[in-house]
Amino acid sequence: MKKFGIRGAVFDFVANPRQSSKAFRFFEDAIMVISDGRVESIAQTKECLDTFQEQYPILEYPGCFICPGFIDTHIHYAQTRIIGSPAPGLLEWLETYTFPEELRFSDPNHSAAVASQFFDELVSNGTTCAQVYPTVHENSTDLFFEEAHSRGLRMVAGKVLMDRHAPEGLLDGNDGGEAETERLIKKWHGKGRQSYSITLRFAATSTLKQMEVCRRLVQRYPDLLFHTHLAETLPENEWTMQLYPDCSDYLGVYEKFGVVSDHSVFAHCIHLSDSEKQRMADAGASIALCPTSNSFLGSGLVPLNQLDDYHIGLSLGTDVGGGTSFSMLKTMQEMYKIVSLGGDRNVDELDLFYLATLGGARTLKIEEHVGNLDIGKEADFVILDDGGQRLIRQRFEQSQSISEKLFALIILGDSLNIRETWSMGRCVYRRGVH
Ligand SMILES: [Zn+2]
Repeated sequence: MKKFGIRGAVFDFVANPRQSSKAFRFFEDAIMVISDGRVESIAQTKECLDTFQEQYPILEYPGCFICPGFIDTHIHYAQTRIIGSPAPGLLEWLETYTFPEELRFSDPNHSAAVASQFFDELVSNGTTCAQVYPTVHENSTDLFFEEAHSRGLRMVAGKVLMDRHAPEGLLDGNDGGEAETERLIKKWHGKGRQSYSITLRFAATSTLKQMEVCRRLVQRYPDLLFHTHLAETLPENEWTMQLYPDCSDYLGVYEKFGVVSDHSVFAHCIHLSDSEKQRMADAGASIALCPTSNSFLGSGLVPLNQLDDYHIGLSLGTDVGGGTSFSMLKTMQEMYKIVSLGGDRNVDELDLFYLATLGGARTLKIEEHVGNLDIGKEADFVILDDGGQRLIRQRFEQSQSISEKLFALIILGDSLNIRETWSMGRCVYRRGVH
């Protein structure tokens, strides 16, 4: 089916709704035409149905919402099988569950099996694009990209760089992972829909020598993203400052090694000073907010509004397996609750859907390809409905506006509300069909 129409209630964003009153685009009944995997047009059904029907098939989705595929800007595929493991905090969780599981990725069969499971989970939750941590093993990244490429999904990932404070089998060798990283960049960056991000676990698990490797890689490949964790918990902040005593704060460690720029993506960023926030904003760096992980591990309440006040680019990550769900709807729900607990102005449903779609594309510098349904963009989209759930159906029936319906989807929704997921104009998930 090279050219076809999708009919339903279509929405997306052309800007950040916190910065523009015209950011949200909504057609109550529209036909989106897909041609060769890309969006060709969107028009009100009453204006185009007769003409279009004569030319190509129209797939009808009455009562459904059609929106851009979700973009998860921070997730660990190697932690798929340890999601929901208990621990008192981040550092204990890494020791007890994460490192033992990540060691298993020296086995290519394990990497391939988990990669396949991971993509099944992503698409069944409406996620069409993600920025992903594999493990330190070259094969875990290679096989990840292999699977993403064969499924035609747009992914961003990079071998984890780590050379201290972890079990022997998870440490880079003498060259700090530089040669493996370069091989993977040459093989995968720009191949099909794949892109590479230079991926450091965090400053505390790298030696000064490996931090210099990061500096060199970032200088050599300025178009690539740099992806790491920052200020997730207070014990991690303290530990990092002990390891880098000549730096005045945590962000200063990354600045010292030249990896903070408009191509950096930092996950979490809960415990930052005002000065760090300002410097991140000045550098144009972005943040992946990971609310379900933060609540689960007791890391803290991410101050979305304060980060937003600095005009830092924000997006949402599930952070599985520290995060407790692959669902971006649930991630939006948790973000809403955390901001509510903060007590000042709340986020609304449009802010949250923006963070999960166009905000993610902007963070990952792929806005020219995905993130909304602009003409010519890759047709990555998701079809949402009430999932046959009585409560949500009732809520929809009583809703006075699109906003109320989207809000109900965020607060009550999960993977059951994903009817179909489409990637590059192909249906890659249909609820109830395996
Ligand atoms: Zn993480």
